Amino acid sequence: MGKVIAIANQKGGVGKTTTAINLGASLAIIGHRVLLIDTDPQGNTSSGIGVQKATVEQCIYDVLVGGIALSEVIRPSEIANLDVVPATIQLAGAEIELVSIMSRERRLEDALQAVKDSYDYIIIDCPPSLGIITLNALTAADGLLIPVQCEFYALEGLAQLLNTVKLVQRHLNKTLVIEGVLLTMYDARTNLGQQVVAEVQKYFGSQVYQTVIPRNVRLSEAPSYGKPAVIFDVKSKGAQAYIELAKEVKANG
Ligand code: ADP
Ligand code: MG
Repeated sequence: MGKVIAIANQKGGVGKTTTAINLGASLAIIGHRVLLIDTDPQGNTSSGIGVQKATVEQCIYDVLVGGIALSEVIRPSEIANLDVVPATIQLAGAEIELVSIMSRERRLEDALQAVKDSYDYIIIDCPPSLGIITLNALTAADGLLIPVQCEFYALEGLAQLLNTVKLVQRHLNKTLVIEGVLLTMYDARTNLGQQVVAEVQKYFGSQVYQTVIPRNVRLSEAPSYGKPAVIFDVKSKGAQAYIELAKEVKANG
Protein backbone atom coordinates (compact mmCIF):
# COMPACT_ATOMS: atom_id res chain seq x y z
CA MET A 1 0.00 0.00 0.00
CA GLY A 2 1.51 3.32 -1.05
CA LYS A 3 2.31 5.95 1.54
CA VAL A 4 0.44 9.19 0.86
CA ILE A 5 2.32 12.40 1.65
CA ALA A 6 0.60 15.78 1.31
CA ILE A 7 2.85 18.81 0.86
CA ALA A 8 1.01 21.77 2.31
CA ASN A 9 1.46 25.27 3.67
CA GLN A 10 -1.15 27.90 2.91
CA LYS A 11 1.60 30.41 2.27
CA GLY A 12 2.58 30.71 -1.37
CA GLY A 13 6.18 30.57 -2.55
CA VAL A 14 7.60 28.46 0.28
CA GLY A 15 8.77 25.61 -1.93
CA LYS A 16 5.80 23.21 -1.96
CA THR A 17 5.87 22.60 -5.70
CA THR A 18 9.67 22.46 -5.92
CA THR A 19 9.61 19.89 -3.12
CA ALA A 20 6.80 17.83 -4.65
CA ILE A 21 8.61 17.61 -7.99
CA ASN A 22 12.11 16.95 -6.68
CA LEU A 23 11.16 14.66 -3.80
CA GLY A 24 8.87 12.71 -6.13
CA ALA A 25 11.57 12.39 -8.78
CA SER A 26 14.24 11.52 -6.20
CA LEU A 27 12.12 8.72 -4.73
CA ALA A 28 11.57 7.42 -8.27
CA ILE A 29 15.31 7.61 -9.04
CA ILE A 30 16.13 5.50 -5.98
CA GLY A 31 13.75 2.88 -7.29
CA HIS A 32 10.32 3.55 -5.81
CA ARG A 33 7.09 3.69 -7.77
CA VAL A 34 5.82 7.23 -7.33
CA LEU A 35 2.60 9.02 -8.20
CA LEU A 36 2.74 12.81 -8.12
CA ILE A 37 -0.64 14.53 -7.88
CA ASP A 38 -0.97 18.21 -8.71
CA THR A 39 -3.86 19.86 -6.85
CA ASP A 40 -2.92 23.49 -7.49
CA PRO A 41 -4.91 25.21 -10.28
CA GLN A 42 -1.65 26.91 -11.27
CA GLY A 43 -0.50 23.53 -12.55
CA ASN A 44 3.16 24.23 -11.81
CA THR A 45 3.87 20.66 -10.74
CA SER A 46 2.42 19.44 -14.00
CA SER A 47 4.47 21.76 -16.21
CA GLY A 48 7.57 21.35 -14.02
CA ILE A 49 7.50 17.61 -14.70
CA GLY A 50 7.12 18.12 -18.44
CA VAL A 51 3.36 17.89 -18.97
CA GLN A 52 2.34 20.12 -21.88
CA LYS A 53 -0.77 21.94 -20.73
CA ALA A 54 -2.33 21.82 -24.20
CA THR A 55 -2.33 18.01 -24.08
CA VAL A 56 -4.34 17.82 -20.85
CA GLU A 57 -7.97 17.04 -21.60
CA GLN A 58 -8.95 15.76 -18.19
CA CYS A 59 -7.23 16.51 -14.92
CA ILE A 60 -7.62 16.18 -11.16
CA TYR A 61 -10.66 18.47 -11.44
CA ASP A 62 -12.55 15.73 -13.29
CA VAL A 63 -11.72 13.31 -10.49
CA LEU A 64 -12.66 15.61 -7.60
CA VAL A 65 -15.73 17.21 -9.15
CA GLY A 66 -16.67 14.91 -12.04
CA GLY A 67 -16.05 11.69 -10.13
CA ILE A 68 -14.07 9.92 -12.87
CA ALA A 69 -11.46 7.31 -11.90
CA LEU A 70 -7.98 8.54 -11.03
CA SER A 71 -6.55 5.94 -13.42
CA GLU A 72 -8.10 7.87 -16.31
CA VAL A 73 -5.98 10.94 -15.61
CA ILE A 74 -2.71 9.29 -14.55
CA ARG A 75 0.00 9.68 -17.15
CA PRO A 76 3.61 8.50 -17.22
CA SER A 77 6.33 11.13 -16.97
CA GLU A 78 9.66 11.02 -18.80
CA ILE A 79 11.20 9.66 -15.62
CA ALA A 80 11.03 5.92 -14.98
CA ASN A 81 8.79 4.94 -12.04
CA LEU A 82 7.20 8.41 -11.90
CA ASP A 83 3.58 8.97 -12.91
CA VAL A 84 1.71 12.24 -12.66
CA VAL A 85 -1.85 13.49 -12.31
CA PRO A 86 -2.01 16.98 -13.80
CA ALA A 87 -4.03 20.00 -12.72
CA THR A 88 -5.23 22.85 -14.89
CA ILE A 89 -6.79 26.21 -14.20
CA GLN A 90 -10.17 24.47 -14.42
CA LEU A 91 -9.50 23.33 -10.87
CA ALA A 92 -9.92 26.91 -9.66
CA GLY A 93 -13.69 26.41 -9.72
CA ALA A 94 -13.56 23.24 -7.65
CA GLU A 95 -13.54 24.96 -4.25
CA ILE A 96 -17.01 26.33 -4.97
CA GLU A 97 -18.37 23.40 -6.98
CA LEU A 98 -17.43 20.92 -4.27
CA VAL A 99 -19.46 22.72 -1.63
CA SER A 100 -22.67 21.03 -2.72
CA ILE A 101 -21.16 17.57 -3.26
CA MET A 102 -21.64 14.80 -0.68
CA SER A 103 -18.54 13.82 1.33
CA ARG A 104 -16.69 16.59 -0.40
CA GLU A 105 -13.60 16.27 1.81
CA ARG A 106 -13.22 12.59 0.92
CA ARG A 107 -13.25 12.79 -2.87
CA LEU A 108 -9.49 12.35 -3.21
CA GLU A 109 -9.23 9.69 -0.50
CA ASP A 110 -11.93 7.66 -2.26
CA ALA A 111 -10.33 8.09 -5.67
CA LEU A 112 -6.93 6.96 -4.35
CA GLN A 113 -8.16 3.61 -3.05
CA ALA A 114 -8.10 2.01 -6.50
CA VAL A 115 -4.50 3.00 -7.28
CA LYS A 116 -2.79 2.93 -3.88
CA ASP A 117 -1.43 -0.57 -4.37
CA SER A 118 0.34 0.40 -7.59
CA TYR A 119 2.68 2.88 -5.88
CA ASP A 120 5.15 3.09 -3.01
CA TYR A 121 4.67 6.83 -2.55
CA ILE A 122 1.87 9.15 -3.56
CA ILE A 123 2.90 12.80 -3.25
CA ILE A 124 0.21 15.48 -3.30
CA ASP A 125 1.19 19.07 -4.06
CA CYS A 126 -1.37 21.39 -2.44
CA PRO A 127 -2.55 24.86 -3.43
CA PRO A 128 -1.62 27.86 -1.22
CA SER A 129 -4.83 27.83 0.84
CA LEU A 130 -6.59 25.78 3.50
CA GLY A 131 -9.71 25.29 1.39
CA ILE A 132 -11.52 22.12 0.37
CA ILE A 133 -8.75 20.94 -1.95
CA THR A 134 -6.14 21.01 0.81
CA LEU A 135 -8.66 19.34 3.15
CA ASN A 136 -9.05 16.58 0.55
CA ALA A 137 -5.28 16.12 0.50
CA LEU A 138 -4.99 16.04 4.31
CA THR A 139 -7.89 13.61 4.55
CA ALA A 140 -6.30 11.29 2.00
CA ALA A 141 -2.79 11.55 3.47
CA ASP A 142 -0.83 9.37 5.87
CA GLY A 143 1.60 12.21 6.48
CA LEU A 144 1.93 15.94 6.01
CA LEU A 145 5.20 17.49 4.85
CA ILE A 146 5.37 21.20 5.67
CA PRO A 147 7.89 23.25 3.74
CA VAL A 148 8.99 26.35 5.66
CA GLN A 149 10.94 29.05 3.88
CA CYS A 150 13.97 30.37 5.75
CA GLU A 151 12.84 33.99 5.87
CA PHE A 152 11.77 36.51 8.46
CA TYR A 153 8.11 35.49 8.72
CA ALA A 154 8.86 31.77 8.55
CA LEU A 155 6.57 30.70 11.40
CA GLU A 156 3.74 33.00 10.44
CA GLY A 157 0.60 31.08 9.55
CA LEU A 158 1.89 27.78 10.88
CA ALA A 159 -0.36 27.93 13.96
CA GLN A 160 -3.34 28.10 11.61
CA LEU A 161 -2.02 25.18 9.57
CA LEU A 162 -1.48 23.10 12.72
CA ASN A 163 -4.97 23.97 13.89
CA THR A 164 -6.36 22.70 10.58
CA VAL A 165 -4.34 19.51 11.06
CA LYS A 166 -5.95 19.05 14.49
CA LEU A 167 -9.42 19.53 13.04
CA VAL A 168 -8.70 17.02 10.27
CA GLN A 169 -7.37 14.54 12.85
CA ARG A 170 -10.50 14.98 14.93
CA HIS A 171 -13.11 14.80 12.19
CA LEU A 172 -11.72 13.35 8.97
CA ASN A 173 -8.45 11.46 9.36
CA LYS A 174 -7.48 10.20 12.82
CA THR A 175 -4.19 8.71 11.65
CA LEU A 176 -2.78 11.80 9.94
CA VAL A 177 0.70 12.61 11.24
CA ILE A 178 3.16 15.38 10.57
CA GLU A 179 5.67 13.59 8.40
CA GLY A 180 8.17 16.37 8.76
CA VAL A 181 8.97 20.05 8.54
CA LEU A 182 11.32 20.97 5.72
CA LEU A 183 13.45 24.10 5.80
CA THR A 184 13.72 25.51 2.29
CA MET A 185 15.67 28.26 0.51
CA TYR A 186 18.30 28.34 3.21
CA ASP A 187 21.12 30.80 2.71
CA ALA A 188 24.05 29.91 4.95
CA ARG A 189 25.65 33.30 4.37
CA THR A 190 22.99 35.20 6.30
CA ASN A 191 22.42 35.35 10.05
CA LEU A 192 18.72 35.41 9.33
CA GLY A 193 18.86 31.96 7.73
CA GLN A 194 20.59 30.52 10.79
CA GLN A 195 18.16 32.26 13.15
CA VAL A 196 15.17 30.86 11.31
CA VAL A 197 16.60 27.34 11.38
CA ALA A 198 17.11 27.64 15.16
CA GLU A 199 13.64 29.07 15.66
CA VAL A 200 11.88 26.39 13.61
CA GLN A 201 13.87 23.65 15.35
CA LYS A 202 12.87 25.08 18.73
CA TYR A 203 9.19 25.07 17.71
CA PHE A 204 9.03 21.70 15.95
CA GLY A 205 11.90 19.78 17.61
CA SER A 206 12.62 16.39 16.07
CA GLN A 207 9.90 16.87 13.47
CA VAL A 208 12.29 19.02 11.44
CA TYR A 209 14.13 17.08 8.72
CA GLN A 210 17.90 16.95 9.08
CA THR A 211 18.11 17.82 5.41
CA VAL A 212 17.88 21.55 4.76
CA ILE A 213 17.22 22.70 1.19
CA PRO A 214 19.62 25.49 0.18
CA ARG A 215 18.67 28.43 -1.98
CA ASN A 216 19.96 27.22 -5.33
CA VAL A 217 19.40 28.72 -8.74
CA ARG A 218 19.23 25.31 -10.47
CA LEU A 219 16.08 24.52 -8.50
CA SER A 220 14.38 27.62 -9.88
CA GLU A 221 15.69 27.17 -13.45
CA ALA A 222 14.75 23.53 -13.90
CA PRO A 223 10.95 24.02 -14.21
CA SER A 224 11.34 26.09 -17.37
CA TYR A 225 12.90 23.00 -18.97
CA GLY A 226 10.03 20.82 -17.79
CA LYS A 227 12.41 18.78 -15.69
CA PRO A 228 13.03 18.28 -11.97
CA ALA A 229 16.41 19.68 -10.88
CA VAL A 230 17.39 16.14 -9.86
CA ILE A 231 17.25 15.26 -13.58
CA PHE A 232 18.24 18.62 -15.07
CA ASP A 233 21.40 19.00 -12.97
CA VAL A 234 21.75 16.21 -10.46
CA LYS A 235 25.12 17.49 -9.23
CA SER A 236 23.72 20.86 -8.16
CA LYS A 237 23.50 21.52 -4.43
CA GLY A 238 19.71 21.83 -4.60
CA ALA A 239 19.30 18.49 -6.37
CA GLN A 240 21.65 16.75 -3.96
CA ALA A 241 19.67 18.09 -1.02
CA TYR A 242 16.43 16.66 -2.43
CA ILE A 243 18.07 13.28 -2.96
CA GLU A 244 19.16 13.37 0.70
CA LEU A 245 15.60 14.29 1.68
CA ALA A 246 14.26 11.30 -0.26
CA LYS A 247 16.58 9.01 1.71
CA GLU A 248 15.37 10.59 4.95
CA VAL A 249 11.72 10.18 3.94
CA LYS A 250 12.43 6.54 3.07
CA ALA A 251 14.19 5.96 6.41
CA ASN A 252 11.12 7.33 8.22
CA GLY A 253 9.14 4.43 6.72
P1 ADP B 1 5.03 27.08 -3.65
O1 ADP B 1 4.62 25.85 -4.41
O2 ADP B 1 5.01 26.88 -2.16
O3 ADP B 1 4.27 28.30 -4.06
P2 ADP B 1 7.45 27.00 -5.25
O4 ADP B 1 8.06 25.65 -5.08
O5 ADP B 1 6.68 27.25 -6.51
O6 ADP B 1 6.58 27.37 -3.99
O7 ADP B 1 8.64 28.06 -5.10
C1 ADP B 1 8.42 29.44 -5.26
C2 ADP B 1 9.53 30.01 -6.14
O8 ADP B 1 10.79 29.85 -5.50
C3 ADP B 1 9.65 29.33 -7.48
O9 ADP B 1 10.01 30.27 -8.44
C4 ADP B 1 10.76 28.31 -7.27
O10 ADP B 1 11.45 28.01 -8.48
C5 ADP B 1 11.65 29.04 -6.29
N1 ADP B 1 12.35 28.12 -5.39
C6 ADP B 1 11.80 27.16 -4.62
N2 ADP B 1 12.73 26.56 -3.87
C7 ADP B 1 13.91 27.15 -4.16
C8 ADP B 1 15.26 26.99 -3.70
N3 ADP B 1 15.57 26.08 -2.76
N4 ADP B 1 16.22 27.79 -4.23
C9 ADP B 1 15.90 28.71 -5.16
N5 ADP B 1 14.67 28.93 -5.62
C10 ADP B 1 13.67 28.16 -5.12
MG1 MG C 1 3.02 25.53 -5.68
